[in-house]
Amino acid sequence: MTLPVDTQPEPDAPQPPTWSKRTLAAQAMGHVDPVTRAVVAPLHVSTTFIRDPDNGYSSGFSYARPDNATVREAEAVLAMLEEAPAAMLFGSGMAAATAVFGALEPGDHVVAPAVMYWALKRWLREEAPRRRLDLDFVAMDDLDALRRAMRPGRTKLVWIETPGNPLWTVTDIAAAAEIAHAAGARLAVDSTVASPFHTRPLRLGADLVMHSGTKILNGHSDVVAGVLATAAQDAAWTRIGSIRAGGGAILGPFEAYLLMRSLRTFPLRAAAQSAGALDLAARFAQHPHVERVLYPGLPDDPGHAVAARQMEQGFGAMLSIRVAGGEAAAIATAAQVRLWKRATSLGGVESLIEHRASVEGPGTPCPPDLLRLSTGLEDPDDLFADLAAALRAAHPGA
Ligand SMILES: *Cc1c(COP(=O)(O)O)cnc(C)c1O
Repeated sequence: MTLPVDTQPEPDAPQPPTWSKRTLAAQAMGHVDPVTRAVVAPLHVSTTFIRDPDNGYSSGFSYARPDNATVREAEAVLAMLEEAPAAMLFGSGMAAATAVFGALEPGDHVVAPAVMYWALKRWLREEAPRRRLDLDFVAMDDLDALRRAMRPGRTKLVWIETPGNPLWTVTDIAAAAEIAHAAGARLAVDSTVASPFHTRPLRLGADLVMHSGTKILNGHSDVVAGVLATAAQDAAWTRIGSIRAGGGAILGPFEAYLLMRSLRTFPLRAAAQSAGALDLAARFAQHPHVERVLYPGLPDDPGHAVAARQMEQGFGAMLSIRVAGGEAAAIATAAQVRLWKRATSLGGVESLIEHRASVEGPGTPCPPDLLRLSTGLEDPDDLFADLAAALRAAHPGA
């Protein structure tokens, strides 16, 4: 939860140079193992630790459920990326998100987005009444609707997701923070899709940032992980920490090790995948078998103005297309791709395509003609050609 001891400057050391995030990530904060001088931090697997003769734990480690040194290494990189004083890793994005809601008290009022990660929305619908949380879903691209939903003194948490899955609806983080704070509530941002490369929610006024580490942060489709980063190490943060420790929701050390290996290349992957997504969005916007492209990087996207203000270095790897000819044509298109992989998830180095309404089922805000595209690291020319061929095959004679 804090920087590894040997990366903290000596009190009288000269001011460290201001290296960029890409530089710090490439070297995983420059950690060198003090025993072996290894440039890769050791993988700590021990579940228990020797007590001192005076019965204390001078190393700070006693048991592996509350804390782990390998997890701390990855948390230091994540805190650096989010410009946060602390970050916590969980066994999944859902474990991280539900810890935030778990820290609320019965009777608290919560506002969440109408368009958001489907599994979390379902969890909130099922769990909020059981936990006696008052829950309202609001169209977060309508700030007046958010203002009207606030109950000053009773609303304790505003949860937003931007760009919001799977329509990539953009929410104004700074405005949402102002509205939340005016009513005495905290703002938490699911920033999985933007990633710390494209958006810095804490700088825009958010109190908490959440990521599914499973997505572009790890990026290699081989780890399930969740991240929280905080603006302040306050009582709410301490409570979330005790929920993680008590519930045993910490990320495992092997996963933390793999995640840290991925974080070293994260800024380069995010830049390349975002550039690929923008290229594909612009090309599919001109395609005769595509009704509409949803991507906040396109100048005519309804979220573009806010996205251009609050996102940096591009608009992320995720876009959706609405296929001409409706649901059947969309499903037929997904059936015809050879390079794109028909699978759920997002942010990995391999590009994925998904008929999202089939996944979300009844009640989804996702239109039936929508295909969700996660842009990987393949050549955008190959990705365009493959999907264009699939669109042609799904529209015979058109
Ligand atoms: C995947 C995802 C989650 C959940 O993360 P898991 O690691 O799968 O538990 C939450 N929010 C968004 C936006 C996601 O894409």
